[in-house]
Amino acid sequence: MTTISCDCGHAKVDVLGKPLLRIICHCTLCQSFYQAPEGDPVIFKASAVKVQNDETVSYRRLRKSPAVDRGVCVKCSQPIVEFFAMPLLPDIVFIPGDRLINHPELLLDPALRIFYDSRTEDANDDLPRHEGYWQSQLALTRRLIPALLR
Ligand SMILES: [Zn+2]
Ligand SMILES: [Zn+2]
Repeated sequence: MTTISCDCGHAKVDVLGKPLLRIICHCTLCQSFYQAPEGDPVIFKASAVKVQNDETVSYRRLRKSPAVDRGVCVKCSQPIVEFFAMPLLPDIVFIPGDRLINHPELLLDPALRIFYDSRTEDANDDLPRHEGYWQSQLALTRRLIPALLR
């Protein structure tokens, strides 16, 4: 088991399972949540991630479907965990990539860029790029299903 935390150390999250996939998301909601041009979360099964104390995390629901509860530390406001409920799939959790820098065994290389049409700057790599809501959702689901079945 690995325990990750925000920089102030107040919010702690236990990670018990293997990472499934890492994405780079350029959507405007991620830009707002991460306070950055893009989010780069690593995805886990929800059953593999446990917030130690729910009172240390404050959740914002930014959209209804798929339901996403994005959690920040109540003290330092740093993004720490995001819960996704996707139709027909097991619930998944996103952990911001920068929370895993000290845990290289959990920090996969990014596999794709989604919502690339919302980018604030061009990317300088060869990762597959997907634009728009449906193309991005579909690309994510197609990568996620084999990882969930592995
Ligand atoms: Zn996003
Ligand atoms: Zn904190």
